Amino acid sequence: MAIRSIVKKGDSVLEKHCRPVTEFNDRLHILLDDMTQTLLESGGVGLAAPQVGVLRQAVVVLETNVPEDGEEYVIELINPEIISEDGEQRGPEGCLSLPGQYGIVTRPNLVKVRAQDRNGNFFEVEGEALTARCFCHELDHLSGVLFPERAERMMTP
Ligand code: ZN
Repeated sequence: MAIRSIVKKGDSVLEKHCRPVTEFNDRLHILLDDMTQTLLESGGVGLAAPQVGVLRQAVVVLETNVPEDGEEYVIELINPEIISEDGEQRGPEGCLSLPGQYGIVTRPNLVKVRAQDRNGNFFEVEGEALTARCFCHELDHLSGVLFPERAERMMTP
């Protein structure tokens, strides 16, 4: 595994639409392993492939809603789509590609995603609170959308 450098705002790769993943091969597995290591190293909760310069529909999200004696774990989402959402949460949001910037963004409080795993198998996963926010934020990256576009206001210049 290797840590990849995170693309910062201003790079046009962050504004492009990502193509679906069609080959669930070693190259994808290396990308996902590297993304996980990069995410954990950065202290963030989510990372999308375009943030490491790859225009493919792949994201990793850290599930932090675990029991007190449980361990946080990374969810890999390939070709993800939101199939249902419920409730609302309003709060600060940031992005590893926009270091030091935060804005107030309203997101659903509960989000269900259908995606493929690293071997191409379809599955569904639910995220709540921060994880729901993260699913929405990372899926936005796959459409070239950055959180300031969703923010009602920025808290930083
Ligand atoms: Zn982001």
